[in-house]
Amino acid sequence: MSAPVSACRVHVVGAGLAGLSAAVALAEMGCSVILYESAPHAGGRCRSYFDTELGCRIDNGNHLLLTGNRAALEYLDRIGARDSVEGPPAALFPFVDAATGERWMLQPNSGALPWWVLSAARRVPRTRASDYFAALALRRADPSATITSVLDPRQNLFCRLWEPLAIAALNTGADQGSAALFWRILAETLGRGGVACRPLLPRVGLSESFVEPALSRLRAGGAEIRFGARLRALAFGPGAVSQLVFDAASCEIEAADKVIVAVPAAIAARLIPGLTVPDRHSPIVNAHFRYKPPAAAPFFVGVVGGAAEWIFRKREALSITVSAADRFVECDASKLRELFWRDAAVAYGLPAQPVPPARIVKERRATFLASPEQLKRRPQQTTAWRNLLLAGDYVDTGLPATIEGAIRSGFAAAGLAAGRPLHAVVGGLPGSRSSFGSPTENKQERRPAFQ
Ligand SMILES: Cc1cc2nc3c(=O)[nH]c(=O)nc-3n(C[C@H](O)[C@H](O)[C@H](O)COP(=O)(O)OP(=O)(O)OC[C@H]3O[C@@H](n4cnc5c(N)ncnc54)[C@H](O)[C@@H]3O)c2cc1C
Repeated sequence: MSAPVSACRVHVVGAGLAGLSAAVALAEMGCSVILYESAPHAGGRCRSYFDTELGCRIDNGNHLLLTGNRAALEYLDRIGARDSVEGPPAALFPFVDAATGERWMLQPNSGALPWWVLSAARRVPRTRASDYFAALALRRADPSATITSVLDPRQNLFCRLWEPLAIAALNTGADQGSAALFWRILAETLGRGGVACRPLLPRVGLSESFVEPALSRLRAGGAEIRFGARLRALAFGPGAVSQLVFDAASCEIEAADKVIVAVPAAIAARLIPGLTVPDRHSPIVNAHFRYKPPAAAPFFVGVVGGAAEWIFRKREALSITVSAADRFVECDASKLRELFWRDAAVAYGLPAQPVPPARIVKERRATFLASPEQLKRRPQQTTAWRNLLLAGDYVDTGLPATIEGAIRSGFAAAGLAAGRPLHAVVGGLPGSRSSFGSPTENKQERRPAFQ
């Protein structure tokens, strides 16, 4: 834990993972924190709730972490929730082809030297080691390049590995997704070896892992948390925010106070004059089937050649995720139930009939579209106002819209608010020796190498 900084007061608006991680880091540094959230609950796009129709608790959407998500794991450590996530003992990725029933297990070795691509038993069937090394072309990809302009979409390896990974990580089809951003993800995970690719999932639910422990930690540290507080406007004085305007009341900003706006991109753009943000979004569709899976069933299965993409074993449900799901958002829920259960039955070896009851959740604006054009619209965390900072998965973290990106932005905003470089807030992140306040250094940080 960092030493306390001289007393400062920080207003954090938005209690998604960006706002929560900023608030947790600030409270640890000895700052006085007020956290405002418009909803009656925290967590934003990453939370759990009780579904009365299904009669069980579900997550708004399945969220998968990898052990390479260093900021996310640091956050779980800080809120005392590291034990609340679980997964297979190593980097194991079971796949099934829903059309043919063929199965395989992707199994990267733990070290950074990727000898697993030499082993037919560990790689995708009917691929060669040289196919994998061809992906190194992503490293030199032009910022305007899409994934399919760099990798050959007709290749077996593309269809069975690169495309499913890219869609899951970027929530954007490979024909639109940024090749440079996909490289960044590969560099931080597969490029560091299996040790950085072990999958982790909440043992109970997203809120139990990421949200409730953070709120408890904040309350115990004396932070003030105000639910039902929707920020309607910011008032500006010379060079600084002077007031936060909520529905019921306004809050004066003292000279030494800082404000971190951690709301979704479109709302930040409405509140902050002249702010450019990504303005195209990509949907995610989830289907939560009320079906208690066998305890020995795999934590998840990747699906190719079907409608589902990833199927997760939950305590009381089997849960399906489809990213970049434009083709499904207008589909009737009963049709989606049939389609997705067909794949779940193949993947987990279950009866195809009857189809269990299910809740279909369509998040139409789940994340921004990770295309080269949209990435150019990501703002820095500092603004034209000296006491106003941004946090959120849409800011220019160099990562896609993910838990890791949101939390990294929260830690960085906390460092800026408290006048601390990022490495003093959280060590061990790529680029954390540099100050996130410096756009130049930040740009350099966006060009990682396989480590
Ligand atoms: C279905 C789905 C599946 C996903 N799967 C994954 C995954 O597998 N892995 C992964 O890493 N990421 C995944 N993500 C992405 C991840 O959930 C997000 O990147 C992350 O939660 C964003 O956090 P955030 O704090 O930036 O924004 P948000 O979660 O949107 O938080 C913003 C908060 O601000 C509040 N707010 C809004 N307006 C105001 C206002 N005016 N005043 C006060 N408060 C306000 C909101 O209520 C919200 O709580 C998924 C997202 C979805 C939707």
